[in-house]
Amino acid sequence: MTTVHEAHDTIILGSGPAGLTAAIYAARGNCCPLVIHGSQPGGQLTTTTDIDNFPGFPEGIDGPTLMQQMEDQARRFGTAFVQGEVTRVDLEGPPFRVWVEDEIYLCTSLVIATGASPRMLGLPNEWDLYGRGVSVCATCDGFFYKEKELVVVGGGDTALEEAAFLTRFARRVTVVHRRDTLRASPPLQKRARENERIGFRWNSVVSAILGDKEAGVRGVRLKHLQNGQEEELACDGVFIAIGHTPNTALFEGKLEMDEGGYLVTRNGTETSVPGVFAAGDVQDHQFRQAITAAGSGCMAAMQAERYLETLQQAKS
Ligand code: NAP
Repeated sequence: MTTVHEAHDTIILGSGPAGLTAAIYAARGNCCPLVIHGSQPGGQLTTTTDIDNFPGFPEGIDGPTLMQQMEDQARRFGTAFVQGEVTRVDLEGPPFRVWVEDEIYLCTSLVIATGASPRMLGLPNEWDLYGRGVSVCATCDGFFYKEKELVVVGGGDTALEEAAFLTRFARRVTVVHRRDTLRASPPLQKRARENERIGFRWNSVVSAILGDKEAGVRGVRLKHLQNGQEEELACDGVFIAIGHTPNTALFEGKLEMDEGGYLVTRNGTETSVPGVFAAGDVQDHQFRQAITAAGSGCMAAMQAERYLETLQQAKS
């Protein structure tokens, strides 16, 4: 049986830095927000180790701790939380409607902070071997690879951060990159190049992951993109770090998106529907930092608050 819940001023979808910052601001603005945690409460940072660039933590802080502190702060001001997967939204409002299975939540303003998910290689057996040597999270799985051989795919910040972290455990980490120039920032490049446990395979892609469900990953086949040659590289794990896809499937045909599927925002965090705001990685493919996500979460809450005021004034 469907349950329709009492309307909230503001519902926030997602509980990464964007969603939780929006919650802190909305709660302090007396908008009684409800946060709907998705499948990964705390968002992508819960899979990160040392965050050295979030202001206010001179010694760095680990992702799960930072996210727990943000959640505690949001709760302190009265934010309500619900755990569940949003299956459908109706943006023909306000009120807007949000389905979490058989429950319907109503709201006058909506902040979308659903983030982005790691991209996969698209190889036929990568999901079969997921958790059996294939991973997208060094923090989660690195521990299992003490003195092992690993491959990290990608040439961005994430790939090099993962590679550096994995050298705490692994004997050797080979970064496989499709070009001969890294996309990662200079400090991360320097750190990786100076790490004697990290090696590189340039102009190469993983064309196959070798292994089976029982024994797990035993290697990869690498294809050199310039001469077409293929070779096998023995390894015990493959960490895929090739970027992300925004979590926007729910909003297809309902909100304006760019060609990459990211929500288009204007004037801060306004989407194409008045009263619906978007913050964090779901609308930002460029910066994708915890601090920029938090900043846009703050903007979304403030814009939602102004929107609610305008509606109130129009009524009186
Ligand atoms: P990214 O910057 O988009 O890099 C993705 C990498 O994967 C690129 O090197 C790309 O190659 C490669 N790639 C993409 N699709 C591929 C495919 N199908 N096969 C093989 N390789 C593929 O993603 P990211 O590293 O996750 O970083 C995302 C954002 O988060 C960036 O803005 C980054 O600065 C930020 N970030 C920051 C930190 C930090 O500051 N500590 C840490 C992590 C992430 P090409 O280079 O050829 O395109």
